Amino acid sequence: AKASGRNSYSFFTKEMNEIMLRRFEIEGQLHSALERNEFEVHYQPKFDVKTGNIVGAEALLRWKNPALGNVRPDEFIPIAEHTGLIVPIGKYVVKEALRFLNEWESAHQRDYTMAVNLSPRQFRDKDLIKFIKNSLSDASIKPESFEFEITEGVLIIGNSYIDDALDELHKLGVKLSMDDFGKGYSSLSYLRKYSFDILKIDQSFINGMTLNKEDFNLVKATIAMAHSLDLLVVAEGVEMRKQLTLLDELGCDLVQGYYFSRAIPAKELIAFQHPEDN
Ligand code: C2E
Ligand code: CA
Ligand code: CA
Ligand code: CA
Repeated sequence: AKASGRNSYSFFTKEMNEIMLRRFEIEGQLHSALERNEFEVHYQPKFDVKTGNIVGAEALLRWKNPALGNVRPDEFIPIAEHTGLIVPIGKYVVKEALRFLNEWESAHQRDYTMAVNLSPRQFRDKDLIKFIKNSLSDASIKPESFEFEITEGVLIIGNSYIDDALDELHKLGVKLSMDDFGKGYSSLSYLRKYSFDILKIDQSFINGMTLNKEDFNLVKATIAMAHSLDLLVVAEGVEMRKQLTLLDELGCDLVQGYYFSRAIPAKELIAFQHPEDN
């Protein structure tokens, strides 16, 4: 037992070394990624279930580094959070998304909404609200056209600066969206405490709704509950026609997912045609 214990010890050490080394490399490269222009914002369109029209998009960050290649947000966002680099990176996403929203709206002569993800560390930035306010007015975007998606991870901190920031955002007139609803433990109590406008059902439930009755019933109940609270409901992770059909029957408002489109570069989203524009 001693011998194998020793083997597994060195095995884990090697694995852990690799994970640590990877983290270390990402962190090293992340520091200069902004100034080297390695980020690009992609956009995943959101569709109105009833009309089939694109009504808005979610901005999702992409990073391509010469040494590391394409690094997934799931990998670099937590490191950006930990190091605080998410603060300047997040500001870049807001600026870029606002710039694109203007371009997109004038290209199609219609109104869209744009959603940006905000993670916990960004709320510790004293400048956050002022920055958002100024950016909206610089871009002459109506606050109602802009959304912030936040997860339970932001709310769980339970700090007063989070509450104040959410209040300020609400007063500014931007929309607040609860992301990954149902995935955490206390989503319901947060809906009661904060002024959300939109609820995004976590993709694991959408994935499960065609596979088991429990997930289907949870999606159904979530939509009914959200509507009774006057929230707009978005289903994310829609990958199949069958899911869309069921979501339509359940009265879901908006859908987003690979069935319609992945997150795509700005140029490609501009080229996306509306059914009635053909
Ligand atoms: P999220 O906000 O929950 O975003 C949804 C994720 O699901 C995205 O992954 C999206 O590409 C993916 N997705 C969309 N439709 C489908 C589908 O039909 N099937 C499947 N399997 N996946 C789908 P992505 O782009 O890799 O982003 C991962 C996470 O990284 C995001 O989760 C978000 O938490 C974070 N993130 C991305 N961009 C930003 C950003 O600019 N700022 C911050 N703070 N976080 C970001
Ligand atoms: Ca608009
Ligand atoms: Ca999101
Ligand atoms: Ca989500």
